[in-house]
Amino acid sequence: MQEWVDIRIPPEKIDDWEFIDREVQKEIVQFNRGNLGYRLQRKSIDARQKNAVYQLRFVLFEKGKEANPRSSQWMPKDVSRSKPVGIIGAGPAGLFAALKLIELGYKPILFERGKEVRRRRRDLRSIQQENIVDPDSNYCFGEGGAGTYSDGKLYTRSKKRGNIERILQLLVDHGASEDILVDAHPHIGSNKLPGIIQKMRGTIEECGGEYYFDHRMVNFSENGSMGITSFFSNGSKFNVEALILATGHSARDIYHLVNRKGLEIESKPFALGIRAEHDQNFIDRAQYNKKNRGPYLPAASYSLKASVGDRSIFSFCMCPGGLIVPAATAPGEIVVNGMSLSRRDSPFANSGVVVTVDPSKDPEFQKYGVFASLRYQEMVEKKMFEDGNGSLNAPAQRIGDFVDGRISESLNRTSYIPGIHSSPLHKILPNDIVYVLQEGFRQFERKMKGYLTNEANIVGVESRTSAPVRIPRHHIFCNHPQMDRLFPCGEGAGYAGGIVSAALDGERVVQGMNKFFKNK
Ligand SMILES: Cc1cc2nc3c(=O)[nH]c(=O)nc-3n(C[C@H](O)[C@H](O)[C@H](O)COP(=O)(O)OP(=O)(O)OC[C@H]3O[C@@H](n4cnc5c(N)ncnc54)[C@H](O)[C@@H]3O)c2cc1C
Repeated sequence: MQEWVDIRIPPEKIDDWEFIDREVQKEIVQFNRGNLGYRLQRKSIDARQKNAVYQLRFVLFEKGKEANPRSSQWMPKDVSRSKPVGIIGAGPAGLFAALKLIELGYKPILFERGKEVRRRRRDLRSIQQENIVDPDSNYCFGEGGAGTYSDGKLYTRSKKRGNIERILQLLVDHGASEDILVDAHPHIGSNKLPGIIQKMRGTIEECGGEYYFDHRMVNFSENGSMGITSFFSNGSKFNVEALILATGHSARDIYHLVNRKGLEIESKPFALGIRAEHDQNFIDRAQYNKKNRGPYLPAASYSLKASVGDRSIFSFCMCPGGLIVPAATAPGEIVVNGMSLSRRDSPFANSGVVVTVDPSKDPEFQKYGVFASLRYQEMVEKKMFEDGNGSLNAPAQRIGDFVDGRISESLNRTSYIPGIHSSPLHKILPNDIVYVLQEGFRQFERKMKGYLTNEANIVGVESRTSAPVRIPRHHIFCNHPQMDRLFPCGEGAGYAGGIVSAALDGERVVQGMNKFFKNK
């Protein structure tokens, strides 16, 4: 059985390893064995008391006998002449699928509609400064997918610890800080992610995998009962043994393609709302009970949820010390999301605050079929754009004014670079969403005093929290039930939400695909 010790230390001692060593040795004494070594396994913050403390857990081992516990076990392999498998989309799902393919002896060929990670940066600048959205290269599309210029928070609700550790270790192997292996809320930051994504490409190419950038897949074709054997991009046909569809939840054209091909798609619950932006100092004060968090505690985060009737409202993708970014994937729409740099040192704290939408409970959605949710998202995103007179300048309101149904005469400062303008979000968002948000904010106020304030803005619209549809797949082989060799994968297919879960799904699908081939 694994043995461990826990210690609690004041924030200012977090980098004082002599002090930490003395504290750990005091705890180790109880084991009455002289030859124990220790390794930090988990670091978290307990802010429930007046003074926040760091909680550190150390695993113990007999000196000289520690098996290397931190290894992804991933070994490079030459797959240049192996069976080619096409991966559409080089986001976390596609990248981790590629690494898994190599491990199992297949050759990954990645097709990405966007640009490689460095060139992509220029297009982000055009979005921020000139309001120009390239439909193939933006905050969601391009090498590394939506994960690259994201916040890079790496927690997931998945309980499969071993698998998660492997994903984190692979990120460390490609340049992420080892801190992510021990932090209770691991985070990379959008300044560090591009380098990691680039190194992953290096690994994949060194093993014989291939990349095609600026290649949007527009169609696929089947070969009788064999299933999919080829697909089309940039006017060329590419032959593959299998096709992994890891295109993310913003590739609406892919849902339409799958539907046109007569393949089933199901609708699923999703969420829609706004992004709330507070002063980071306020969140720090609320969470750490201190006027100033000082240099040893990270920018504080929060997680809030409430129920209003049968609807849920919850904070989503909270970015302490972060920025609100324009995450639209096509001209003519406004979508907001959040990100932060590794230091999380901006003066703003933003978070999605979203309301669940369950099409199966709403006759209006059912009337319009499986694409009703996509149309609903599009409709709200377009309304936001029109409200900004056709620019990415986003509609915003002070939270207190929103809850009271009053237009804001002025707004608080914001991190959102294209700018915000005062708008009656209580009138332009769908009525049911407004009602749940207003009630939800009142409940949040009871949980975090001062949250419902006119010192904070809300900005519209946070509409892409998860895919509103699912592309079904076999529970073991992961292929589409109506199409052999087509493997829906990741967030776009409706099996993941977030970087780590998309990466896990990439691995899962390749394992399913491997079983599919073995079963043939
Ligand atoms: C600003 C922002 C911040 C975020 N912050 C976090 C966070 O802190 N933590 C977290 O866990 N998650 C975060 N997310 C969500 C996270 O990025 C996604 O959950 C994750 O990237 C999904 O992975 P995926 O591989 O399934 O899809 P995606 O990352 O969406 O990748 C899909 C890829 O497919 C490509 N593609 C689409 N269609 C085609 C086509 N026809 N042909 C070729 N290529 C195509 C796209 O260009 C894209 O690169 C954030 C997202 C955004 C936008």
